[in-house]
Amino acid sequence: MTFENSRSCAKTMDQDDPLGSYRDKFHYPKNDNKEKLIYFSGNSLGIQPKSVRKYVEKELNVWEKKGLLGQHDRWENFHERLIENTARLVGAQPSEVVVMNALTVNIHLLLISFYQPNENRKKIIIERGTFPSDQYAIKSQIKFHGLDPKDTLIELTPRKGETTLRTKDILAAVSDINEELATVILGGVNYYTGQAFDMQSITKAGHNAGAFVGFDLAHGAGNLELDLHNWDVDFAAWCSYKYLCAGPGSPGGVFIHKTHHDWTGPRFTGWWGHNKNTRFEMGPDFDAIKTAEGWQISNAPVMGMAPLLAAMKIFDEVGMAAIRLKSEKLTGYLEYLIAENLPAVKILTPENPAERGCQLSLVAPGGNNTFKIISKKGVVCDWRKPDVIRVAPHPLFNRYTEVYDFVKLLKQSLSE
Ligand SMILES: *Cc1c(COP(=O)(O)O)cnc(C)c1O
Repeated sequence: MTFENSRSCAKTMDQDDPLGSYRDKFHYPKNDNKEKLIYFSGNSLGIQPKSVRKYVEKELNVWEKKGLLGQHDRWENFHERLIENTARLVGAQPSEVVVMNALTVNIHLLLISFYQPNENRKKIIIERGTFPSDQYAIKSQIKFHGLDPKDTLIELTPRKGETTLRTKDILAAVSDINEELATVILGGVNYYTGQAFDMQSITKAGHNAGAFVGFDLAHGAGNLELDLHNWDVDFAAWCSYKYLCAGPGSPGGVFIHKTHHDWTGPRFTGWWGHNKNTRFEMGPDFDAIKTAEGWQISNAPVMGMAPLLAAMKIFDEVGMAAIRLKSEKLTGYLEYLIAENLPAVKILTPENPAERGCQLSLVAPGGNNTFKIISKKGVVCDWRKPDVIRVAPHPLFNRYTEVYDFVKLLKQSLSE
């Protein structure tokens, strides 16, 4: 890609951007004085699709007019509206996905099934410095089995002097632990460094060791092109309020590979995972749906799913291939401009586009102070301790000119 260090180059790329019109499908945030912001926090909370209000009003109207009759006509199978589109989003077969609960809850439910430690095989691999909620969930799962994280939890750490993991080191760790390894669970993209892992190779290595392999795709879903079924991933979970723009606390997604749909192992169950034909016979014995839906516990949160449905309509219309194509170029432009204009700013995220999503994690002189200055200048991004400013230009609603303006503002901030 040939970029130029000029606003006119950015402007031309905006004009030629096949996804440029999608910006108008979102309410783009402004500050209290109604001035434009540069919103680079789609990795924390995606902005609101304009169509969301209509989707939510529809369900409010049905509730208003029909009460319980709405349940029978419409809501009982409401989550099924999110199956085909979600499957396309993550590269799954429709039977392999379901939208339910929130992310950390789903990590627990999946680990109840896919972390079954025994005397010989009890180790679980994560990456060091993974998202705190994942650490709490995984450590509590270990303790739930009467084990001590000291003996069971393996945290992958970058080599001395390096900030991200090398694939070959991950694979070596997996094969070293080998017959003692119960489960691998990594972030598909690390939330702090923005590093995307080679999920296919890691899954293969995990299976060679006889372990289950799963991924937390909080930073993968809606950000990377995923092919979970063909990669043979056992399980995955993600949230929908980040890249997917489904609104605060919107329900999460789950993937469970087809090979596990006849599951007879441990699972926490509830009536929504029960055979749909006999669910309302209200019998005492659980008869699992033989798809990912068998892991559902409760009936669907319709008012949270309506915004997700609106957002998924947009993602599905564009498709992850086109989203990713723009994303690589947009983030590539940010990387290029930083290298040209800000030699003192270090990028922690890998250079190889195959090893990252849209986020770049920057270490800038002045650290938190610099972050505060650019925030005052109207950039919405975030600070993560100890020293990173995370910026994520979102391919569906950000522009090349915003990337250009951001770099200019950051340069000004460094000289203040
Ligand atoms: C955002 C995020 C979470 C948040 O979990 P919730 O249960 O949705 O509150 C968990 N893990 C990772 C890796 C995240 O990025």
